[in-house]
Amino acid sequence: MAFSEQPDTNDAGGHVSQQQRWGRANPQARKAHGAVRSAVRRGTLQRGPCEICGVVHGEDGAIVDGHHEDYTKPLDVTWLCRSHHKHIHAIVRAGLWVKR
Ligand SMILES: [Zn+2]
Repeated sequence: MAFSEQPDTNDAGGHVSQQQRWGRANPQARKAHGAVRSAVRRGTLQRGPCEICGVVHGEDGAIVDGHHEDYTKPLDVTWLCRSHHKHIHAIVRAGLWVKR
């Protein structure tokens, strides 16, 4: 074995996916994402176009996600396509994101 790092395991002793690890580290974020998904499914929340480029979810396979500025307000989201969502997180990490 070349890897010295211990593999992460879940309670059942299985491998933990990156998604699961993220969810454990960000329980509030996971809850907020779940709330958006179910609200969109129920129709109580309308998925908007990307607020930066205007691409619509499903158009040419585009994925528009709700970006949370505050996970304590799970349904208060900014709609962003995958690439702009990534972009925003880079800006937030750099401390350059200005809350509207
Ligand atoms: Zn976009």
